[in-house]
Amino acid sequence: MGIDRREFIRIAGLSTLLGLGGKGAFELLMPGRVDAEIVPKPEARKAKRWAMVVNQKKMDEHTAKKCIAACHRVHNVPNFTNPPNDKLELDPAVANRYQIKWIWTDHFHNAFPGEEQKYPQEHLAHMNFLLLCNQCNNPPCVRVCPTKATFQREDGIVMMDMHRCIGCRFCMAGCPFGSRSFNWKDPRPYIKETYPGYPTREIGVVEKCNFCAERLAQGLQPACVEVSGGTLIFGDLEDEKSQVREYLRKYFTIRRKAHLGTNPQVYYIV
Ligand code: SF4
Ligand code: SF4
Repeated sequence: MGIDRREFIRIAGLSTLLGLGGKGAFELLMPGRVDAEIVPKPEARKAKRWAMVVNQKKMDEHTAKKCIAACHRVHNVPNFTNPPNDKLELDPAVANRYQIKWIWTDHFHNAFPGEEQKYPQEHLAHMNFLLLCNQCNNPPCVRVCPTKATFQREDGIVMMDMHRCIGCRFCMAGCPFGSRSFNWKDPRPYIKETYPGYPTREIGVVEKCNFCAERLAQGLQPACVEVSGGTLIFGDLEDEKSQVREYLRKYFTIRRKAHLGTNPQVYYIV
């Protein structure tokens, strides 16, 4: 993940060109900080290719809310619509624009556009789907990032190194799933209770779901999976004995915008 001198000058120039003041460029001299910060314990969970199955047949509003709350709590995701103190209250339209989301819900026609004709079951049209970064096997966000702030690990997880992000938002344009959010505003005052197990971010960087890489390193399940009561299944796609493989054998699943060729690693049982 190192950057040579020529590359550094190119990125510094780019960040200046984009009006970013070169701030991010200097931080690029500390490559691989995110990986270095995640120190795996002996009981760390490992896989050749992490994948998730979302069982929409079991999904309900309560479960979805629990998953979102668990994820956002352990990742210090700010809440602009319901700030922790009155003085921070924002106009709802502004708050909505600032919103950061790692995991969220949306209707079938938004989550799977163009698939309505293929899967005309009426129940799908009324279903809310739990959405997150698909940890694509062929991730366009990684290809377009000029600073390698977003990168893919060997186990398939697409990571973000906020120290290297210059806020150009090319990755947001590159992601066809809307899985990334930009910190338009300092998020820290909008975190109700700072969780010590994950770093807070600053204004001007992009963030997204990381399949709970920091929890896997401690031998834990992703937070959303842990509270989902078996609605979310997580495991190694390359291991034919894994629960993920078992569910993929047993049930019919779909993936978001599979025709784009990004090869999403989140599957939905419908
Ligand atoms: S869903 Fe978007 S952000 Fe996530 S890996 Fe795929 S392209 Fe990248
Ligand atoms: S895998 Fe972890 S980071 Fe991703 S949505 Fe679930 S809880 Fe959030």
